[in-house]
Amino acid sequence: MRIALFGDIHANLEALEAVLADAAEQQVGDYVCMGDIVGYNADPVACLERIRAMNCPTVKGNHDEDASSTHSLDNLNPVAAAALEWTRRQLSDEQRQWLRRLRMVRQVSDFTVVHSTLDQPAHWNYVTNRFDAMSNFSYQFTRVCFHGHTHVPRVYVKNDKVHEVPAESIEIEENSKYFINVGSVGQPRDGDWRACYAIYDLDQKAVVLRRVEYEIEATQRKIRAAGLPEMLAERIAEGR
Ligand code: ZN
Repeated sequence: MRIALFGDIHANLEALEAVLADAAEQQVGDYVCMGDIVGYNADPVACLERIRAMNCPTVKGNHDEDASSTHSLDNLNPVAAAALEWTRRQLSDEQRQWLRRLRMVRQVSDFTVVHSTLDQPAHWNYVTNRFDAMSNFSYQFTRVCFHGHTHVPRVYVKNDKVHEVPAESIEIEENSKYFINVGSVGQPRDGDWRACYAIYDLDQKAVVLRRVEYEIEATQRKIRAAGLPEMLAERIAEGR
């Protein structure tokens, strides 16, 4: 069985559709969403409805939480806050409620999914080094855990110690644990503009990261037409 793991879509419909088309070509049978369906880009409603219709296991991201609440966004950076204010206005009460009810952590098959980390999933910690990963591993009871949040694909392995390994392709071995960031569909930040997601092949015990081109000019046009901050249109082209 092959499962697609994708997240940080951030209301980028063109990137989402490109990833789903690529996954179908790759004979993926199941899908799991790592959260942050909305925020930043201009298609929150279409992305939410597309994923809801897929009825796949989905965990909540911080932007899903912020977009579906009424709390102040003052502590966020101004660009993220402006996009979230706009997103709140696009979503219906019923769509906000669907986002609000997403769970923080899910176990699917023999692996776990979370948007940020398993140690404090509601604190939205960023994992940028092996020490951050160590805190997660203390709470990881499955061999493999997938997550997102930083928009940078990264893989940490725990055996006798915790270390980072190249993210492109990973063999899952018996006596190790894996904490795998699948990158971002709609706003990659690793310098590569292409949409990013992962395929887990349960029979081959292997995870492959895939990059998919999409019609970025269409996404940029929609961001500008919506009156969202110009920086959001520029950053997706630069992958930052
Ligand atoms: Zn995100």
